[in-house]
Amino acid sequence: MKNVKGMSDKVLAGREFHEKYQYDGKDLGAICKKGKTTFKVWSPFAQKVELCLYKGNDSEVWRKAVLAQEDKGVWSIAFEESLHGVYYDYLVVIEDEVIRTGDPYAVGCGCNGRRSMVVDLGLTNPPGFEEETAPPLQEEQIIYEMHIKDFSSDENSGVPKEYRGKYKAFTVDNTNGKYPTCMKYLRELGVTHVQLLPFFDYGSVDEAGDENQFNWGYDPLNYNVPEGSYATDVADGTVRIRECKEMIQALHANGIRVIMDVVYNHTFSEDSWFQRMVPGYYYRHKKDGSLADGSACGNDVAVGRAMVDNYIVDSVKFWVREYHMDGFRFDLMGLLTVDLMNRIQRELDEEFGKGEKLLYGEPWSAADSPMEEGMIPAVKTNTCHLNDGIGIFCDDTRDLIKGDAFLEKKPGVVNGAGEMAPLLIKAAKGWRDGGAAFCPKSCAQIINYVSAHDNFTLWDKLIMSMCEEPNFLDRNQKVIAANKFAAFIYFTCQGRLFMQAGEEFGRTKLGEGNSYCSPWELNMLQWNRTVEFADLVDYYKGLILLRKSLPGLCDKSASAAERIREKAVSEEGVVSFTVDNRVSGRKTSWEEVCVVYNTTGQEYSMLLEEGVWEILADDSTANCRQAVNELQVKVQPHSGMLLGKIVK
Ligand code: CA
Repeated sequence: MKNVKGMSDKVLAGREFHEKYQYDGKDLGAICKKGKTTFKVWSPFAQKVELCLYKGNDSEVWRKAVLAQEDKGVWSIAFEESLHGVYYDYLVVIEDEVIRTGDPYAVGCGCNGRRSMVVDLGLTNPPGFEEETAPPLQEEQIIYEMHIKDFSSDENSGVPKEYRGKYKAFTVDNTNGKYPTCMKYLRELGVTHVQLLPFFDYGSVDEAGDENQFNWGYDPLNYNVPEGSYATDVADGTVRIRECKEMIQALHANGIRVIMDVVYNHTFSEDSWFQRMVPGYYYRHKKDGSLADGSACGNDVAVGRAMVDNYIVDSVKFWVREYHMDGFRFDLMGLLTVDLMNRIQRELDEEFGKGEKLLYGEPWSAADSPMEEGMIPAVKTNTCHLNDGIGIFCDDTRDLIKGDAFLEKKPGVVNGAGEMAPLLIKAAKGWRDGGAAFCPKSCAQIINYVSAHDNFTLWDKLIMSMCEEPNFLDRNQKVIAANKFAAFIYFTCQGRLFMQAGEEFGRTKLGEGNSYCSPWELNMLQWNRTVEFADLVDYYKGLILLRKSLPGLCDKSASAAERIREKAVSEEGVVSFTVDNRVSGRKTSWEEVCVVYNTTGQEYSMLLEEGVWEILADDSTANCRQAVNELQVKVQPHSGMLLGKIVK
């Protein structure tokens, strides 16, 4: 499809166009409540807009009506009746061509998102949903990244077959009878947030197809509708909405906040409702007129244009208001602008309270993308322009710990590259004193992690970099030790904490580095591994508890790094520092914390400063309290130790 009337991006993005057509109303879409239904679309080049109503997702047209033209390219029609449950689309005439399109602002849709659906959202709330709220925000944010289907596909999940891979699985509070799984497991693990891979309506899975399909879902169709393949019934478009709300309600009831992975940087294809409604406006083009492809997914949404930015802000707020979302992870945030990210944060802070909603993203893009003039892309080097609190995935810390994410053999400090150890002190301070190619305003902008859905799982990366002959399935003491050390390091760095689900039980995809459409069996969480790797799970649980009890490491203020003082060490490959753990007006058990990273193959003997110390974590246990009798401790090879100095 071409831009309408041969208009260039420059014209479509320009001031003149927006003075004429920018619409800031908050009533686009189909709004149905109290026995009234209003349809409103933004289509500035349309000569005519006709509404088609259907009683079913596949049925013939039931009624038709022509919309009236308003100012600013808006068209509307109102009905003095509730059309809840009725499906709809539009016939838009542009340059004498009749184009059928769904509604980009739709809050409901039918199977595979082909038709939009009128929904009186108040009727989709499960019991108690209107009153439910998120658990209180904790001092530390420990984010667990998970795919809805991975959570419960395994038969060992203990979830009834009909709920496996579905939103509903989150409402099953059972164990499989032998050991905790799913929700019970999550609750016991102690994470504060679950970040769910995309669950807006996406296009890569046929909702009418069989249950064996799998996709991560980074291909948006309907931004404001939940994905249908996770619902128990796709024939009725209200079921996906209700069951998605039930999932969020269940997570909240178990003390866990919910973060949504959002993909506003591109759409499933250019032939989207956006493009059909306003040809050319919503996408970036290269100089030769072809589509920009900074997403490596075929198109880039034109963030930076007023109606695109309005759409994204409205969409984010919709998910918070309607679904009680607690935060957003922005896919390829580098294709979005600093301006938009800061605006989203500002508006969420204003409406829901400062810092209530977590925002962070991938501070990069897959390739260059032509932004509007004067726009600043939200990439890593521009972290300093993002509002404090908007986080970036910190690949510097990630790669320092376990080695390059793309090169399977390349090690980091836990698997062979001890010479990089001096950088660990910088990572611990959230890169606040330089050492990386970006300048965070505070460690609140840093998301510390060593694995995510992209690239190899931590376990696979360690196996491939540490073993001559990879065996992914079985336990391996050396690799388990390296895994513990990796976790120990990022749990002792200032910043927010993030982990891929299953990192704590040796999750393996058998060396597959990009499992976005691999079989569900390869992707699923294998719950029996929580038993097989119980020592590793316990170590993570201990680190989570310990972290929450150390305000010196949880501090997100701009001066947090000043709490950290590097200690002189006598060995190359050893790094040690103390953290001032005092908080005025509050009691803490330890006034100071001492951290040691020993990346060498030898035991490291360290002299402590005066005081009464206890070991809180070492190579085998985290969150212990082991008295130190003399002021001397021995740190095992390739491991960390954390000590607390008891308040006098
Ligand atoms: Ca879908």
